[in-house]
Amino acid sequence: MGQGTDRRVGIGREEPLLLERSKKGRKGYSVAGADSVSDRDIRIPAGLLRDAVPGIPEADEVTVVRHFTRLSQWNYGVDTGMYPLGSCTMKYNPKVNEAAARHPIMDSLHPYTPESMAQGALALVWRLERALAELSGFERVTLQPAAGAHGELCGIMMVRAHFSARGERRRKVLIPDTAHGTNPASSALVGCEVVQVKSGSAGIVEAGTLEQAVDGDTAAFMMTNPNTLGLFESEMPKIAGLLHDKGALLYCDGANFNSLMGIARPGDMGVDVMQFNLHKTFSTPHGGGGPGAGPVGVSKTLEPYLPVPVIEKVGDTFRASTSRPLSIGRMKAFYGNFGVLLRAFTYIAELGAPGLKKATGCAVLNANYVLERLRGDYHVPYAGRCMHECVLTDKNQSVFGVTTLDIAKRLMDHGFHPPTIYFPLVVHGALMIEPTESESLESLDEFVEAMKAIAAETRSDPGAVKAAPTLTPVARMDEIGAARNPCLVSTVK
Ligand SMILES: *Cc1c(COP(=O)(O)O)cnc(C)c1O
Repeated sequence: MGQGTDRRVGIGREEPLLLERSKKGRKGYSVAGADSVSDRDIRIPAGLLRDAVPGIPEADEVTVVRHFTRLSQWNYGVDTGMYPLGSCTMKYNPKVNEAAARHPIMDSLHPYTPESMAQGALALVWRLERALAELSGFERVTLQPAAGAHGELCGIMMVRAHFSARGERRRKVLIPDTAHGTNPASSALVGCEVVQVKSGSAGIVEAGTLEQAVDGDTAAFMMTNPNTLGLFESEMPKIAGLLHDKGALLYCDGANFNSLMGIARPGDMGVDVMQFNLHKTFSTPHGGGGPGAGPVGVSKTLEPYLPVPVIEKVGDTFRASTSRPLSIGRMKAFYGNFGVLLRAFTYIAELGAPGLKKATGCAVLNANYVLERLRGDYHVPYAGRCMHECVLTDKNQSVFGVTTLDIAKRLMDHGFHPPTIYFPLVVHGALMIEPTESESLESLDEFVEAMKAIAAETRSDPGAVKAAPTLTPVARMDEIGAARNPCLVSTVK
């Protein structure tokens, strides 16, 4: 091994910052005659010219190219390995989706193209809306919101508009303790008061508990189904009934629709409004903040409040209609993230109805396979089958001093991206695993064997698990220190 920043780990290198590699006067270009360009030749007013180079790295082209290429090789994505991040649904994005989204006809289409010349694109938006409405049992679906959380915001805005139109001032949104953090955030953004509802001992919300919490000030109950424990909320139809009896609405967080798609329809269970996460259920790449799409389906009750424009089919013509007097307005420029809509449409068209149903079946089967194979080694907090994801805990490992964080770090040494950890909050030391339908039996087995090896190592040599990761360019970082004392300014001279 070499020394300092140039330390080699096999052919995997520790990668210093470009600033640390900077050499004074080093250039990344060689244009004949460029060095003799004088200030007079550059037509920038003298007052705007800097006296010195402003602390940017000075490096040759090869160094810069290698630096960024090496960093890109550190990327871990679904295209390089299994990405079992529960709740995030990191499923494989079929390459045919990319071919469709990058088709020259589609990617050069300007959003201001006159409607008469963009009929194909409008038809696609309309057909995607119809497909989502059919799959979910809703009256209409807006495709505008740019993400799941944005869809939640849009949905709660429509709920508010509904009560305003009726002259009611309901402000309470009830949310179970298993909810994703975006649910209370979206409700609070709209000015609603968030009230937490405890789930029962089986991990789902009991209708009796909810009934106690609903009052005349309750606007909606916001429920994720299947919930973040990977369990189906079987009392949902009953819950919808008792909310409607009291004049309140049922919001379903549909981020986990990939476990219902083609099999059950939330609209049929009494849900009034639900967001889809196209970037989870209908493939399309995501992570690192986007891009995404969070369409929102609504029942007849909320249809008048849909964001505009709404794509309507009049005869054989598609129009973007803005005549909707009670609309909450626009949620996004133009028609939403069109490239993501296009990928989702391609995914639906490619699989067809039987294929979508099969994808759901495989997602649920894969999660249950992982759950059953790991049941002896890891503690399972809730009895019975799971849906698209399973939750384990570190209870068996903690007696050896090994925690969920250690297990997650050790998985990296086995070549896997760790699952979601310490969420949902109601499970102590949670490891939340979502394999998705993309994984083959062989890759599921590889993951299971890695998890089993870590469980065995915990019993024989817990110190080794706690020292992980050892095969990554950077070992375990001081995450608390990084959060409490962030170093946001380069100290490199
Ligand atoms: C991912 C997720 C969200 C948020 O979706 P974004 O697209 O990341 O905004 C909301 N709820 C649940 C249950 C989720 O899994």
